[in-house]
Amino acid sequence: MPRGGARLLQGGPIATEIRQAVSEDVAAYVERHQRRPVLAVVICGRDAPSMVYLGQILRSTEKVGIEGRLVEVDGEASELSVVEKIRALNDDPEVNGIIVQMPLPPSIRLRSIVDAIDPAKDIDGIHPMNAGLLRLGYDGFLPATAHAAVEILRRSAIEIEGKRAVVVGRSAVVGMPAAFLLVRENATVTVCHSRTRDLARHVRDAEILVVAAGHAGLIRGDMVRRGVVVVDVGINVVDGAIVGDVDFESVRRLASAITPVPGGVGPLTNALLLAHLVRAARGQEAVVVSPVEPADTPPPAPATVVRDRAVASRGVR
Ligand code: NAP
Repeated sequence: MPRGGARLLQGGPIATEIRQAVSEDVAAYVERHQRRPVLAVVICGRDAPSMVYLGQILRSTEKVGIEGRLVEVDGEASELSVVEKIRALNDDPEVNGIIVQMPLPPSIRLRSIVDAIDPAKDIDGIHPMNAGLLRLGYDGFLPATAHAAVEILRRSAIEIEGKRAVVVGRSAVVGMPAAFLLVRENATVTVCHSRTRDLARHVRDAEILVVAAGHAGLIRGDMVRRGVVVVDVGINVVDGAIVGDVDFESVRRLASAITPVPGGVGPLTNALLLAHLVRAARGQEAVVVSPVEPADTPPPAPATVVRDRAVASRGVR
């Protein structure tokens, strides 16, 4: 462990590198197609935190040359009308990727919305098909936050193989996919959740700790082992400030490396979403220009989507 506390795992520089690769791929795409790749962001009602996140996404698409299309649905709209909007985006050949801003209004079932998205345009990996591909170890679209939590370790040259990793949180979009990705990287993984007895005992065992619970200060210094590498995915607002799930000051004294909040996983999540969009666009391109195929050949699953060249060469999966 470096003297003076843990090494800071900053997401910003890695995100800049990824965005640079994405810009190059977007420029090549525009040259081939004479149009920009398109990300559609579906939003149901103007929930304030969603709008902040949404603003960030749309600004970041512009910076790399992707067209961000805001598709607004009235907060009172029926589930069917949202599903129909998504189906129209699925059918629109100009739209390469779709994300649906969460949380949804209580009257709309998450499952119906998730199921409606074309898996080949599901760049945040929420469709059951992409979740299943991850579970089976194939290359579908990954949920961007879980991807960022593991990518920040890989890009910071933190060894994962053989390590004891503990993930706190088991949501379908963050905790579980992060755990599956760590298993894929050959860590030995324990998943904790709100019913876990003696959380501290499990956390103390971790050589790599990923926390995605949504509770400020859940992990304190007295719970972790010296030398642990900590990835704090949490985003909480406390007294007007954004903090993670980890009590940064007490944990950084013992950790060998830790992600700050803000500035750790967040910027990387955003950049990876753009990388996923480019990959979707390339995959759809491969489908469109593929040479003669028998008419009854099913379209390729996202697992077979051509991986984005420049981004892949820089190690993004
Ligand atoms: P979520 O759906 O609310 O899931 C939270 C998980 O944490 C659940 O599995 C829950 O257990 C577990 N949990 C809650 N309290 C716990 C406790 N006291 N001890 C152990 N486990 C506990 O949240 P999420 O969508 O996964 O998001 C997690 C955090 O990541 C949130 O702070 C969110 O804001 C943040 N986030 C960050 C980014 C980013 O880009 N950095 C993106 C998305 C989300 P049960 O399953 O038993 O309920």
